[in-house]
Amino acid sequence: MKKVILKIEGMSCSACQNRVEKYLNKQDGVNASVNLVMAQALIKYDEEKVTLNDLDRFVEESGYKSLGVYNKKEEEKKDNSKYYLISYAILTVVLMYISMSHMLELPIIPFLHMTRHPIYYAITLLLLTIPFLIYGLDIIKSGIGKMLHKSPNMDTLVTIGVLASFIYSLANLIIIITQKEKLVEHLYFESSAMIIYFTKLGRFIDKKSKEKTKEAIKELVQITPSSATIKTEDGEKEITIDKVKKDDILICKPGMKIAVDGTIMSGVAHLDEAFITGESIPSKKSTNDKVIAGSINIDGYIEYKAEKIGKDSTISEIVRLVVEATNTKAPIARIADIVSSYFVPAIIIIAILTFITYLLLGKEFNEAIISFVTVLVVACPCALGLATPLAVVVGEGVSAKKGILVKDSSTLEKAYKVDTIVFDKTGTLTHGNLKISEIENYSDYSNKKILNIVSSIENKSTHPIARAFKEITPDHNVSKFKNIPGIGLSAVINNKNIYVGNNRILKKIGIKNKYEETEKKLIQKGNSIIYVIENKTIIAIIGVKDVVRDNAKKTIKKLKIMNKKIIMLSGDNEYTSNIIGKYLQIDKVIAKVLPKEKEKVLNDLIKNNHKVMMVGDGINDAPALATSSVGVSINSGTDIAADSSDVILMNDDLSKIIDLLNISKKTIKIIKQNLFWAFFYNILMIPIAIGILKPVGISITPIFASLSMTISSLTVVFNSLRLKY
Ligand code: AMP
Repeated sequence: MKKVILKIEGMSCSACQNRVEKYLNKQDGVNASVNLVMAQALIKYDEEKVTLNDLDRFVEESGYKSLGVYNKKEEEKKDNSKYYLISYAILTVVLMYISMSHMLELPIIPFLHMTRHPIYYAITLLLLTIPFLIYGLDIIKSGIGKMLHKSPNMDTLVTIGVLASFIYSLANLIIIITQKEKLVEHLYFESSAMIIYFTKLGRFIDKKSKEKTKEAIKELVQITPSSATIKTEDGEKEITIDKVKKDDILICKPGMKIAVDGTIMSGVAHLDEAFITGESIPSKKSTNDKVIAGSINIDGYIEYKAEKIGKDSTISEIVRLVVEATNTKAPIARIADIVSSYFVPAIIIIAILTFITYLLLGKEFNEAIISFVTVLVVACPCALGLATPLAVVVGEGVSAKKGILVKDSSTLEKAYKVDTIVFDKTGTLTHGNLKISEIENYSDYSNKKILNIVSSIENKSTHPIARAFKEITPDHNVSKFKNIPGIGLSAVINNKNIYVGNNRILKKIGIKNKYEETEKKLIQKGNSIIYVIENKTIIAIIGVKDVVRDNAKKTIKKLKIMNKKIIMLSGDNEYTSNIIGKYLQIDKVIAKVLPKEKEKVLNDLIKNNHKVMMVGDGINDAPALATSSVGVSINSGTDIAADSSDVILMNDDLSKIIDLLNISKKTIKIIKQNLFWAFFYNILMIPIAIGILKPVGISITPIFASLSMTISSLTVVFNSLRLKY
């Protein structure tokens, strides 16, 4: 039996996992175990009976896609990057020591003496440099590729610098060996090595701060239950989710989750489906209403017919949207690449002009070519690869201290450009659940006492409104508790009849409403109303609503001063959305939008050349977060929102968005300065390389090259650290 791990695309729930696993195991000579979270199948197969191609086909036949054999080596190679970096750091020091000890008057290794043993010296430098070329082969390949496609980037510039120094030094080495000429001062092997090392170091820092692996599917496994209760002729039966078939009648009791998308056949219940709709109050569902897999049944018994299962379900659709959006998101052009794209042609032109001018001046071909190469050698700044990652890392550190977790390293390079900020309502601008917002007290009791009484009764209710009181500890003995459907609750506390509910309760117990005006006022503010009655007297009116988060209003006001357009998206109804939109002075409110429509709003904005930040918390926001230029999620939100976003606000404080924009602006400024300093000394070297200063006896030597490298690298390091203050 042979063993392979296949990567599988498209599995989004445990039903999918079971389907693939079963289908594979049905095949002759195949033994498979499928891991949904890792999106992998561990397969043992009999080579005589099946081939790898057959395995791919089986996966396709089961309805999913095989992405081929999981390449463990490649992943391991990535993990080794730290050790490579350390080993090459040591090698860099050795190389620098050998090549520079004579300049710095440090003890010289006798047999590697530059002038006494030039051949040993040069060959040692060559041998020590070759590993760096292998180490940086990916950069060189990419640099040449980009050059051939006429879109030079940072890699191209690095490649030119590295290859020019290496080939030039190699040619000189051959001359040293064959013609015994003293050309040892014209070896730039260590420049090649240093440029590669610094670029690799920059990449490493960049990668460390880059986004963590996406584990979006993990959460969705928990959203949809792994089993369902099916109604059969022999009564109820618990079955695993993959056994559910279309048109099965399933049962859902209070506290349970809906297992698959379907339609209610009988029963009534409040279902919490905020994760899809953003509706802050669980909605009442009865016969013929649709239900979505993963919604939580709060209080009723319902029977529903299974309709969309596994891959076709609403949840799977969201996963598909997120994956698509993440995969098609265009990477931003990074500044170092943009600068290089201008610098590369400029350098090549200068080099060619130098070459031609030398020939025109009647100089020897040899001299012309040497000047040509020298220009290329000095042009590539060693600190180029460090300029961006260092600033970004420091910027991310500053952000983290403020509770802003930046997941994607390019975020700080683009956040400052955002012109439109789209907020989700429920759970992002608001807390996402009902809270007590107002209390009008008409009694001698303290507010605290009234809330205690109400909480003691509501504690026994499963109605969504009761959740608003769960933070208040009930401390009264309640007897004769009764639920009055559609109206409220009644009970006896301290020998007094207490009623809580909507205004219909007044009619029921036969008392007049003196507070209609107050009720109207509270409703206008978006509250649901609870009358509290003791015996036959109204003792209070309590308003509950989904309360806006602290700082939301202040933050939006400041963002508007910063010229950002603010949009609010909500799956909730227009009435509630508009109340909140008006209170927060939001420019545009879009209500009643499904996850797919949220994504579309974002896509349309981006198509119209807007740079859009999306701020959200829920599963229904995930596709929009993944689509946006910068996705920001709230820490208390769902894992899938966090996975789909670039930034997480650790303490749910919306005002941190302003800090994020400011840090991004400062980071970009530092990056630009870094690039300036990285290039500055190299640009100063170019005239010397061309030979303009030859008449006064100054020509380029490795001392100048090394010096410019060291100074520019140090400047970049210290300039980046300035971001901290
Ligand atoms: P329902 O049809 O069950 O959603 O209830 C209709 C209305 O009755 C609600 O909108 C509330 O105004 C009121 N109500 C029901 N249960 C309660 C409760 N536990 N506390 C306060 N009001 C309630």
